[in-house]
Amino acid sequence: MYSLKTKLSFAIAMVVLITVALISFLANVFIEKQFNNYILRQQELKKNEIVSLLSQQYNKNTGTWNVDLIHSIGMSALYEGYIIKVYDVENNPIWDAQKHDMSLCAQVIHDISKRMEEKQPLVNGEFTSKTFQLTDGNETLGYVDISYFGPYFLSENDFKFLDALNIVLILIGVFSLLLSVLFGIILAKRISQPILKTVDVTKKIAGGNYNERINEKTKTKEIDILIKSINHLAFSLENQEALRKQLTEDVSHELRTPIAILQSHIEAMIDGVWEPTKERLASCNDEIKRIGSLVSDLEKLHNLDSENLELHKSEINLADIIHSAAKKFDVALKEKNLAISINGNCSEILADVDRISQVAINLISNAVKYSKEGGRIDINIFETNDSVGFNVTDNGIGIHENELPFIFERFYRADKSRNRNTGGSGLGLSIVKSIVEGHGGKISVKSKVDSGSSFEVILPKNKI
Ligand code: ADP
Repeated sequence: MYSLKTKLSFAIAMVVLITVALISFLANVFIEKQFNNYILRQQELKKNEIVSLLSQQYNKNTGTWNVDLIHSIGMSALYEGYIIKVYDVENNPIWDAQKHDMSLCAQVIHDISKRMEEKQPLVNGEFTSKTFQLTDGNETLGYVDISYFGPYFLSENDFKFLDALNIVLILIGVFSLLLSVLFGIILAKRISQPILKTVDVTKKIAGGNYNERINEKTKTKEIDILIKSINHLAFSLENQEALRKQLTEDVSHELRTPIAILQSHIEAMIDGVWEPTKERLASCNDEIKRIGSLVSDLEKLHNLDSENLELHKSEINLADIIHSAAKKFDVALKEKNLAISINGNCSEILADVDRISQVAINLISNAVKYSKEGGRIDINIFETNDSVGFNVTDNGIGIHENELPFIFERFYRADKSRNRNTGGSGLGLSIVKSIVEGHGGKISVKSKVDSGSSFEVILPKNKI
């Protein structure tokens, strides 16, 4: 298996290599083609120039040719690869490169043919001869045979130019390749480094170090998302761990008090310090009930954890549920001399009847518990286009705004000393919240110390 760094560097280098090779090849083909066309045009011009120069060497007045200049033109053409033979109008030879310097002509023919065969075999050319008229206006003065390597040929300098061009292209290619490998390595390192760091931290998190975080900065969007997700995961795990610890601590704390009371009472009775009177046994029973209700609350809470939440939905009427929930508090309401009003109605929704009853019971129970003697509780049922809901409002002791964000947490009891007397375990509202959210609904609270509290539950009218 290869590392990400190696793979990335290799991939980048390969892409650049292929690109550079392709560009170099296409540039080479294109430039060579253009250059050959240019040479072809140049050679046409050259032939026309030779013809025109030669035509000018005829003296009309004397009817003679300037053989010296024709010789110079012929020699200069010969050096450039054109072997010429000049005739007058009656086909009498005036100047012939072959005759003048046979070996030089052979040399020129040999050099050009060899060069072209070696370097441009695809041209597949050969020496050809073409006759041109030497004219002055419409008058024919003579003829010239021009032999050259056709369709075109490249001189030594032309080849040098092409070679230099190729070297430049190769150098550019090599340079780009080196540069790309270098950039590839740097880029791969920049991408792989945060990933490696992430892997490292993830391993630590998996090993139980939930407080580990990835602090690596990256400008790559996906890696940034990955880092954020892993940090979030670590944060959630850390929270879960803290909650688990808190839960164990809270449960043992909650159990310790009633168990200690029970133990001391029973020991006192066994030792004969106390008579097992009806009241003492009833007090022990109260403590046992306390433990029982705590265990049943814990059980409820466990069943309400999202993964365990199983809702048995049916068509329910919220108003009916609230009325029968309130009925359970008749005695408690009377004892505290509390007035209660239930108003409003709403259409039926699909929900778990037992669970929604539990919500209503817990909220009414709290309103009763935290109301002062002679207070009042108002329950209002309402409906909107896509939801139904109710609120339970009391004018009781209220909750301090600092405590409001925590009251839905497990075992949270605002003003703990005050609440121990009320007998609450601090689980009621977390149960309510789990049930409401399990139904896709929302719960909110408004409260003011000494003025009262209002809890509002909203449930969606889902038809599933
Ligand atoms: P508990 O069993 O202690 O009532 P809950 O989860 O039901 O636990 O409530 C959490 C805390 O929120 C309570 O301890 C109490 O301090 C506060 N609380 C809940 N309802 C009310 C209310 N209607 N009025 C005042 N305080 C409330």
